[in-house]
Amino acid sequence: MNDPAVLIAGAGPTGLTAAMELSRLGVDVRIVDRAGAPSATSRALGIQARTVELLRPRGVGDELLRLGNRANATALYATGGKLTEIELHRMASDFNYVLLLDQSETERVLTEQLGRQGVKVERGVEVTALQQHDDSVAVHLRAGDGQSEIVRPRYVIAADGAHSVIRKATGVSFEGRQLSHSYVLGDLSLTGDVPEDQLSIFLGRRGFLAVFPMGAGRFRFMATDPDGLTGDAGDPTLAGIQQLYDRTAALPARLAGLRWSSRFRINSRHAAHLRAGRVFLGGDAAHVHSPAGGQGMNAGIQDMVNLSWKLALVLAGRARPELLDTYESDRLPVIRDLVTMTERATAAFNSTSPLAHAALTRLAPLVLARIRLQRKAADRLGQLSAGYRGAPLSADGGRIGKLRAGDRIPDAAVVTVDGEHRRLHDLLDLSGPTLLVFGDDEPLRTGLSTAVTVRRLASAPALTADPAAWLLARPDGYLAAAGTAADADRLRRWVKRWLTPDTP
Ligand SMILES: Cc1cc2nc3c(=O)[nH]c(=O)nc-3n(C[C@H](O)[C@H](O)[C@H](O)COP(=O)(O)OP(=O)(O)OC[C@H]3O[C@@H](n4cnc5c(N)ncnc54)[C@H](O)[C@@H]3O)c2cc1C
Repeated sequence: MNDPAVLIAGAGPTGLTAAMELSRLGVDVRIVDRAGAPSATSRALGIQARTVELLRPRGVGDELLRLGNRANATALYATGGKLTEIELHRMASDFNYVLLLDQSETERVLTEQLGRQGVKVERGVEVTALQQHDDSVAVHLRAGDGQSEIVRPRYVIAADGAHSVIRKATGVSFEGRQLSHSYVLGDLSLTGDVPEDQLSIFLGRRGFLAVFPMGAGRFRFMATDPDGLTGDAGDPTLAGIQQLYDRTAALPARLAGLRWSSRFRINSRHAAHLRAGRVFLGGDAAHVHSPAGGQGMNAGIQDMVNLSWKLALVLAGRARPELLDTYESDRLPVIRDLVTMTERATAAFNSTSPLAHAALTRLAPLVLARIRLQRKAADRLGQLSAGYRGAPLSADGGRIGKLRAGDRIPDAAVVTVDGEHRRLHDLLDLSGPTLLVFGDDEPLRTGLSTAVTVRRLASAPALTADPAAWLLARPDGYLAAAGTAADADRLRRWVKRWLTPDTP
């Protein structure tokens, strides 16, 4: 086998996204996974709006949308009845719901797309060790048949999960702790009053319980069990789960058809760094946390969408190597925030203190009665509000309307100079920055790299009314810089700082 430009360890959602993105961008990749077959264990269910926005133009979103079940709200109940709900339809996205799909299905869809792009996952092959050199990494691979091999890629992506061998080999610390709660999980059918178009969360005085509708009467059940109603060892039984349900859930239901059940504990940790020399850490190898809010897999996918265009441009000699440092400076603050947010939500939902329970059940309806806070909560769950303001790649980037450099660019309706009515996201180049210019683009072209695609717009009322405005969009749909004709120097500075000069 050849030495690829990038070796990806792990074919979970993170590694598969990296392989799909990099191969789409023309990078020679190999992706290996220790497991001999795709994982059948069910974990992530929730695909968030931002993930759908990013995956759709990359060829897999429509299939995920076809397969998944849509939940339009997250409803909160106390034992006495419904308290309130987070109205996901208020999200500022076309995909204003959470898409529920078994992680093994999401992985299958990603693997099939990868296959269409000419890359096959090498299964039963594990990374056992690595050494970093000036221009490559020596990666030791061992196949299931005992054969070993050393490959020398220029870069390595560690997507090898929470117990990452690669993270340990690089010496990057994994800071955090194990949370005390143990969770019960089950896949079952449910007959009763539980709606199939919402996530239902029941806040009990002794722990919480959530049911996720998977479509066709199937539900995923997840609960804490502080009093051990389901026992404390072995897979929970249907009778035990029903007992837990009856004690906590405000909507009566009969549970049946248990396909599988299990227990798990949660760690809440993140890597101190996302880059160690030529190695990049992403997904669970870089962050693990409570499943509250269904964020983990989504974060891993978005890690790789952030990293891949940067790696591809640097490998093609079109961007400066420093661009690779911005993977960590973009993503680490988002990850820290996610770990804190999920820890807080988990602590609030699981508190067995009567005072804390009373505060939560009284406060939640009051807070969520405000439309502004509804929108904020929905955008946060959908990972639409996470962005890179203040990061080096957004520094000195200016603003356009309410958007600041580092923000996600909304999918606004625009009219091109040719009079075409389009959506902004459809105009973005997914391989390099796109300069969107209202008015005369000639003054902005001086010193511009050919890595930048230029598109001329006549209007985008939701973004700006300034006829001389421009904005520079990154391939992952975040604002790199913006201004008006008078700020042409800002554009030139961004291009000079991050991209390499064109060779004549
Ligand atoms: C019960 C539960 C519910 C969850 N619900 C959600 C949810 O609703 N939404 C959400 O976003 N997230 C959720 N998550 C989190 C989500 O499952 C993970 O964040 C996601 O699987 C991470 O993907 P990954 O590709 O980074 O790692 P993994 O899925 O762990 O994949 C790592 C891969 O690396 C391979 N590997 C390991 N070591 C090596 C090696 N040395 N060499 C080669 N290959 C190796 C493994 O075989 C594996 O295939 C949930 C997690 C749990 C436990």
